[in-house]
Amino acid sequence: MSKRVHNFNAGPAALPLSVLKSVQSELVDYQGQGLSVMEMSHRSPTFDGIINDARATLTRLYAIPDTHEVLFLQGGASLQFAMVPMNVGSGGAFLNTGTWTSRALAEAGRIGAAYDLWSSKDAGFTHVPQPDVPLVAPDAARYLHYCSNNTIFGTQYHHQPVAKTAAGRALSLVCDMSSDFLSRPVNVGAYDIIFAGAQKNAGPSGVCVVIIKKTISRDFQGDPSTPIILRYQTQAEKGSMYNTPNTFGIYVLGKVARWVEDQGGLAAVQATNAKKAGLLYDAIDAHPLAQGHATPDSRSQMNVTFRLQDPAQEKALLSIASDAGIIGLKGHRSVGGLRASLYNAVSIESVTAVVGLLNAYRG
Ligand code: PMP
Repeated sequence: MSKRVHNFNAGPAALPLSVLKSVQSELVDYQGQGLSVMEMSHRSPTFDGIINDARATLTRLYAIPDTHEVLFLQGGASLQFAMVPMNVGSGGAFLNTGTWTSRALAEAGRIGAAYDLWSSKDAGFTHVPQPDVPLVAPDAARYLHYCSNNTIFGTQYHHQPVAKTAAGRALSLVCDMSSDFLSRPVNVGAYDIIFAGAQKNAGPSGVCVVIIKKTISRDFQGDPSTPIILRYQTQAEKGSMYNTPNTFGIYVLGKVARWVEDQGGLAAVQATNAKKAGLLYDAIDAHPLAQGHATPDSRSQMNVTFRLQDPAQEKALLSIASDAGIIGLKGHRSVGGLRASLYNAVSIESVTAVVGLLNAYRG
């Protein structure tokens, strides 16, 4: 087999090798059908089995209650920035912790009232609000939108945020879980909507998983001018097949979800992820030239962001990394520095390789 690199890409990102091999073995002839998944009708009983299995596996992993359902949509997580306010209506209150919440806030503001409730922008998006920070929303606010893991800045919530109006009414929750989906257990019942682009922990790009309360997905409450295709109800009633879905992406996602089950489920992958992130943060903290971007209480277990003392050192480290078959460590272009994305499929061996690289580099 050809050599595989240590892949620290932020997304699209590393997928489990066993999933790739399984896809490879079925690519030309899916389970004796004489054709690939890419070539079969999305209306065929075979694909029905594939999408139902993907849905059922996610439902088992997250213990998704009957009050909620899973949709597989397109347009990425970015389309959800617009679809949420189009369907739920005006009144989103935002915890603005980076690029993706800034974009979501801007989209919601085009559709109705949207509130910038709290932001770490002035601090360079180094942290997320901790549980002791009171989040008091305007009376007209209806839901709290937050991003559980900020891929670019490397921050993550380690609690479920709560926002209330001055009168004490708690806002319902909408969460962008794109970059920590399938990485840890979540109490799905507490959310109105969870959405996640698949291309980090869950599969290839081109599928966005939406876990949504049926009172929203089965009863359109937005403006009547909302296009039919942008209503959750349309896709919910058609089993995510109002239009042709990303059949291949859903197929791979289903396999990745089963792989997570084989690892022991979400609590098990969370424990491994904590171990991996701990190894790298320890190395950063101990390094004379390195400095983590996120404050310790907000550190992400998925995207570890850090800097060396000057950009020339970072460039040198990237070059040494590349020679050692370690890729994807360059920080996002908007932030600079370095970033190692440690998604589920990134092995301890890969993390150990990057830790070794860092330990050996002294400028
Ligand atoms: N939210 C988060 C947290 C992300 O990391 C990304 C992409 N990296 C997006 C939203 C946008 O996703 P997409 O490109 O699938 O629209």
